[in-house]
Amino acid sequence: MIKTETKEEFNLEITSRNFTSTRNACKLCAPLGASIAFRGIEGCIPLIHGSQGCSTYIRRYVISHFKEPIDIASSNFSEQSAIFGGGDNLKTAIDNLRRQYQPAAIGISTTCLSETIGDDVELYIDQYRKSNKDESLPVIIHASTPSYRGTHLEGFQEALRATVETLARGGPHTDRLNLIPGFLSAEDLRHLKEILSDFGIGHTLLPDYSETLDGESWEEYQKLSAGGTTIEAIRAMGRAQATIQFGKSLKGLNTAATFLEGKFGVQSLTLGIPVGIRETDLFFKALKEWSGLEIPQKYQQERGRLVDAYIDGHKYVYGKRAIIYGEADFVAALASWLDEIGIVPALCATGACTGKFKETVLSGLKNCPEEPLICEDTDFADMLDTCRTMGIDMVMGSSKGYFISRKLGVPLVRVGFPIHDRIGGQRILHVGYRGTQQLFDRVVNALIEAGQERSAVGYSYI
Ligand code: SF4
Repeated sequence: MIKTETKEEFNLEITSRNFTSTRNACKLCAPLGASIAFRGIEGCIPLIHGSQGCSTYIRRYVISHFKEPIDIASSNFSEQSAIFGGGDNLKTAIDNLRRQYQPAAIGISTTCLSETIGDDVELYIDQYRKSNKDESLPVIIHASTPSYRGTHLEGFQEALRATVETLARGGPHTDRLNLIPGFLSAEDLRHLKEILSDFGIGHTLLPDYSETLDGESWEEYQKLSAGGTTIEAIRAMGRAQATIQFGKSLKGLNTAATFLEGKFGVQSLTLGIPVGIRETDLFFKALKEWSGLEIPQKYQQERGRLVDAYIDGHKYVYGKRAIIYGEADFVAALASWLDEIGIVPALCATGACTGKFKETVLSGLKNCPEEPLICEDTDFADMLDTCRTMGIDMVMGSSKGYFISRKLGVPLVRVGFPIHDRIGGQRILHVGYRGTQQLFDRVVNALIEAGQERSAVGYSYI
């Protein structure tokens, strides 16, 4: 039987501040991010080195958002492996995966437990390769992803860096472009590929889970769904001419893009996630300058329509106040966009703790009449405590913030990950002029609808 909250339970307030624990975290676990990144590689199966509960949690989260089956293997720690090490478990898990899935690659990410006991995964992999040296082995990638060191985003980025470190090779440079877009929706990835193809730019998108996690229906179950960046394409990333990575806070960090630059001389460019006209203009400008090609007419028209929509809708959004939360760079992108359309991003929050969040958010604000409250390393309970008196009109983020919008009596515009309480989270388009257009329409309509609901008489013309 499903237990529903009573009114009293829903209104329960935690009045004591005498605690330090996280209540309803505004972040997810690092191996989850790594697993999603690994599913963006063709024929790759994620393997969680730790206990079964971690992989079950990750499967549940990913399936609930993408509405697709996803197999995530586990090395299945027992009490014994927690004490004596999980080397035997890991090797058995690799054997099992090879037998059952015949994967092209196995993406191993470590859990809090295996990291805490200091399991030497590199050594185990080396031993495995040596004892199976006469056999054709899948590529084995290892990402170190203890969740106490970072969020799902750090896990995601770590998996990508480990992937190019393992696979990319140097050589004469080609005229190809690498695009490392970060943790976006499947629809975003499809749109980015469309943009690059329309420009006529040869490219490698890493990771590409646009099909593996949002594919067509099957006649028969596929153990590893089709799609993803091919191993050959990742090998060739070391010979590309340039890499664009999205995420302003990645600047100066040891990412896949900086590895490719340092090791193979592939020039790297870090841009904000292209949400809004300002940031999308920068992305298109970079593509134009890099390729020497004109921006295709269809995108100039999309931009023009978006400007027109801003003019039509500005009176509904100007001066409104929003809470936004989620991954640090995604929140920074949303803040910059809300600032562009005249909404005050009054509270910008992330569960991540990068030390760069405030600087990143502020760098994108040009018009905001007040400095937003910018909180990192925060949780949803703290966010609710903080925002009660802020005069909020709208909440924007994943479905995990639904209870905040409900408490405040304001609309939630669902974006990002995870979206568990609606279908189509994987098909939300956030990026480019087209994605911004869709976000703008949703935000304006949510605000109009909230106004209609509040109205004593209601109205049907605006
Ligand atoms: S124990 Fe660590 S790795 Fe496992 S689910 Fe929890 S946060 Fe993630």
